[in-house]
Amino acid sequence: MKKVPRIVILGPQGGGKGTQADRLARRWHIPHISTGQLLRDEMARGTSLGQRITTTMNRGRLIPVRLTNEVMRRRLSQPDCRLGWICDGYPRNMAQARPFARFGRPNVLIVLHLLDQAAVRRLAGRRVCPQGHVYHLRYDPPKKRRGYCDRDGLRLWQRDDDTPSAIRQRLRIYHRETEPVLRWFRKRVMIISVEARWPIPTVYRHLLSQLKRIPWLSSRLQQK
Ligand code: ADP
Repeated sequence: MKKVPRIVILGPQGGGKGTQADRLARRWHIPHISTGQLLRDEMARGTSLGQRITTTMNRGRLIPVRLTNEVMRRRLSQPDCRLGWICDGYPRNMAQARPFARFGRPNVLIVLHLLDQAAVRRLAGRRVCPQGHVYHLRYDPPKKRRGYCDRDGLRLWQRDDDTPSAIRQRLRIYHRETEPVLRWFRKRVMIISVEARWPIPTVYRHLLSQLKRIPWLSSRLQQK
């Protein structure tokens, strides 16, 4: 059976995971799975599950493992994931990572590196549309109409958890809980490390050039 890309992209909040994952997913025609977005969709639907998530997220806390793994498992079993997927910001701690490694069987891990200070600065300017498309007021503004998503025309907004104090709390959790995941994966999955402080197209170029060095992925990249 042909090997398909099952990619996890990790890094601090504001590192550009969503931005880079989206570009890669569009290039390869594979789904970009953002756990945050999956959970936010649940919140938008206002289910009791969604309400629990809202309270937890607004405090900058992580959602319980049983829940996130279930949401991810369900998503990865959808037919559009058969030819590969790119998963953004998951797993975030060891409790999520072990089961995820079994049911998701990721084969590449992309790690974006960015200092906390830069991450906080970036996130202050982040704007998103309700479908999860990501922009930046200064570094990646919409091209068609100010304040509206280029792809679906919906109004952009600032996430409730993009306040400096919630961001700092999420960064603390990242260092404490997600960095051990990177070390754990290092022994199990091919890792690609990318410096994320450069402009978006530069980071993307560096990312592609590293992916091209993986033999079974390079043919895929050259086709397009
Ligand atoms: P993450 O998913 O890692 O939290 P995002 O992709 O949402 O990060 O990016 C955070 C914010 O920074 C967004 O507003 C995005 O437009 C912007 N951004 C992403 N990558 C870069 C970059 N290389 N340079 C400047 N701004 C960026």
